[in-house]
Amino acid sequence: MSFLQLLEAIPPAFYVVCLIVGLLVGSFLNVVIHRLPKIMERGWQQQCAELRGEAVDEPEKYNLVFPHSACPHCNHRIRAWENIPILSYMLLRGKCKGCGARISPRYPIIEAVSGALSCYAAVHFGFGWGAVGAIALIWALLALTAIDIDTQLLPDDITLPLLWLGLLFNTYHTYTSLSSAVMGAVFGYLSLWSVYWLFKLIRNKEGMGYGDFKLLAALGAWLGWQMLPLIILSSSVVGAVVGITMMVTCKKGSEVPIPFGPYLAGGGLIALFWGQTITQSYLQIAAVP
Ligand SMILES: [Zn+2]
Repeated sequence: MSFLQLLEAIPPAFYVVCLIVGLLVGSFLNVVIHRLPKIMERGWQQQCAELRGEAVDEPEKYNLVFPHSACPHCNHRIRAWENIPILSYMLLRGKCKGCGARISPRYPIIEAVSGALSCYAAVHFGFGWGAVGAIALIWALLALTAIDIDTQLLPDDITLPLLWLGLLFNTYHTYTSLSSAVMGAVFGYLSLWSVYWLFKLIRNKEGMGYGDFKLLAALGAWLGWQMLPLIILSSSVVGAVVGITMMVTCKKGSEVPIPFGPYLAGGGLIALFWGQTITQSYLQIAAVP
């Protein structure tokens, strides 16, 4: 019996494997969240320097695997045992082994959320491509959420491949038909794009960024156009509640930009797991005379 056959035969084993892989990838997502915006910034600076005709030095190597992870305070190199998801944070009591500086609790939180949601996707979809795709989507949404909170950016490097991957999964009707996925991508982009231009024409202000359109297009490619209203509605409701709470508690005005990506990602997850059930129940309610 091969390993995959074993996972198919014993569902709890499949759940545990997804949990562990989710935790490990969560640890890698922390690297992506931290480094991808820096890599993008370096690229822009280099392009600007080239456009200005300045001599560009050969930049030192910096990518998702190099240099090795180190403490930002004392440069203490993080060894393998200090990099075990959640467990290391607990063993180190949230402090750097080298200098005792506090390690942000966000690292174990991202790992825990990644592990828990990956495991939940395995339980929800069962052994098969449905779970594999859902877990990949969860990882991408998690990285986008944290990067958007930090930098107000939704990198093309994640949103665009995510869109293509969604179409690819639906070539075999994993979550919806291919035609529904293509329309989901097109209308997902156009719906927010038109809101953007309406907002700009009326109030002469930019309400959201192009990254938001691309993210909704990607979600449409994964889940189909039928899920777009649910995604927009649920993300707007949560966004409005959080936005108003922040305005009241932090006394921030409506001028402070609030990233919309995390809410879209949340709406996407709701649609991924419960979209069918929710749309069916409101269609039933609508059908009652
Ligand atoms: Zn340190």
